[in-house]
This record gives sequence, C-alpha cells and structure tokens, in this order.
Amino acid sequence: MIRVLVWNEFNHEQKKEAIRKIYPNGIHNVIADFLRCDDIEVRTATLFDKNLEISDPTCGITKEILDQTDVLIWWGHMGHQYVPDEVAYLVRDAVLSGMGLICLHSAHHSKPFRYLLGTSCNLTWRESGDSERLWVIEPSHPITRGIDRSFKLDAEETYGEPFVIPTPDRLLLIGNYSSGEVFRSGCLYCRGNGKIFYFQPGHETFPTYYVPEVQTIIRNAVRFLAPTYREMTPCPNVRKVDDPKGYVI
Ligand code: ZN
Repeated sequence: MIRVLVWNEFNHEQKKEAIRKIYPNGIHNVIADFLRCDDIEVRTATLFDKNLEISDPTCGITKEILDQTDVLIWWGHMGHQYVPDEVAYLVRDAVLSGMGLICLHSAHHSKPFRYLLGTSCNLTWRESGDSERLWVIEPSHPITRGIDRSFKLDAEETYGEPFVIPTPDRLLLIGNYSSGEVFRSGCLYCRGNGKIFYFQPGHETFPTYYVPEVQTIIRNAVRFLAPTYREMTPCPNVRKVDDPKGYVI
C-alpha cells in the first residue's frame, strides 16, 4: 500500500460560503476520496481546526507521522507563515530521505517547497476567470499516463511566468490561459532520494479537484513519487574499499 497524507490549510472552505459549497468537507477530503483505492491509503491533516484555530502546533506533522508517509500532498495559501520552520524542515528532510511531495496550486509559496527548491517561487497571478488549457509535454511519462494531448479547465486562477523556480528536472505540462499567458504547470524534481511534483491547478473558488484529468494526474503522481528507497544519505569518513578494518573510520 502507498501511504498518502493530504495536508490542507482548511481556511477558505470554512470562512467563505461559496467555497464551502464546492468543498463542504474541505479540499483535503475531496482529494483523499478520489485517491483511496486498493493500493493507496490516505490520511489527512489540516492547519486550521473546525473552530478556525491552530490548536495543534505541529500542524499534524511530526517525524513519526512522516516516517509512516510515502507521499505528502500539500495545499496551502494564506497560512504559509503559520507553519513553523521546524515542521517545514521535517518535511524537507523526509523528502531528502525519499518521501514524495506533491505541492498543489498556491503551495508554490509553501515553506517546504521553497526550502527544498531554494528560490522565491514567486509568479504572476490574477483572478479574472480565464479558462486554462493544460498541454501534455511528455505523453510517455507515468504522471501524464491516460491524459490526452490537452484538457481544458473552464475557469482557473491565472498563474503566469516568470515562475521563479529552478529549471525543472522534467517539465510535464504547460498551462495556456484564454488571456494568452503560459505557465509551467507540471514540474518534476528530484531532491536527495525523494521526488517533488508541483501541479498548478486548484484555486479554491473553482471545482478543479473534481475534474477527472486533474484527479488522474494526482493519482499517477502519487504512484510515481512513492519511494522505492528511503534513507538520508550520510556523509561518512571512509577507509579504502579493500581495508580489512572495514568501511567507516
Ligand atoms: Zn489560488
């Protein structure tokens, strides 16, 4: 079984009626529901509780929980600053040890994503109801399996270049908006022994996570990012390979 943890800020859905209508139990539960299947088990964690307070200073993320997580999915927007650095560093170290990390939409500014990539991860944005067509660049990649040449989202927040990220190891999808802007919408990275996938769709005021192609890409990404090897690679002082005293000094 692939063990997934879906982490969501859970702020907008509780504060705004229009968003609550789209995601009555939160974005995290919609993602969890479409992911659960024979080979994927899912837990959820949120920053804000049902009283809209941060009652758990760990944000639902501890080393023990990450040790039991193969792929962490992160959705955050207005609460990035409330995630303690210590929690972000735990996520970073888990990725370097092999855990998969999927950052969705406004998680481009989340602490774990920025700490792993080392850049501002700034971009241009606008809420004007543009439609978006996502184009598959690598149809042979496991994450885009089952997706046609392109698919359309009737409305999305417009994210535009420049997107201040390191050049992705693999660029899998490009978004093209009705306004003409383009954006690197599906970016894959390796960091240490882990993999990171950034996937742009998912503004909270649109029902993006109900779109079959979006669900397929996230499900494919979970399977692709699930670790086959998990260890923080150490930095030992070593003897010559044939030294009878052994390997580590
Ligand atoms: Zn947004």
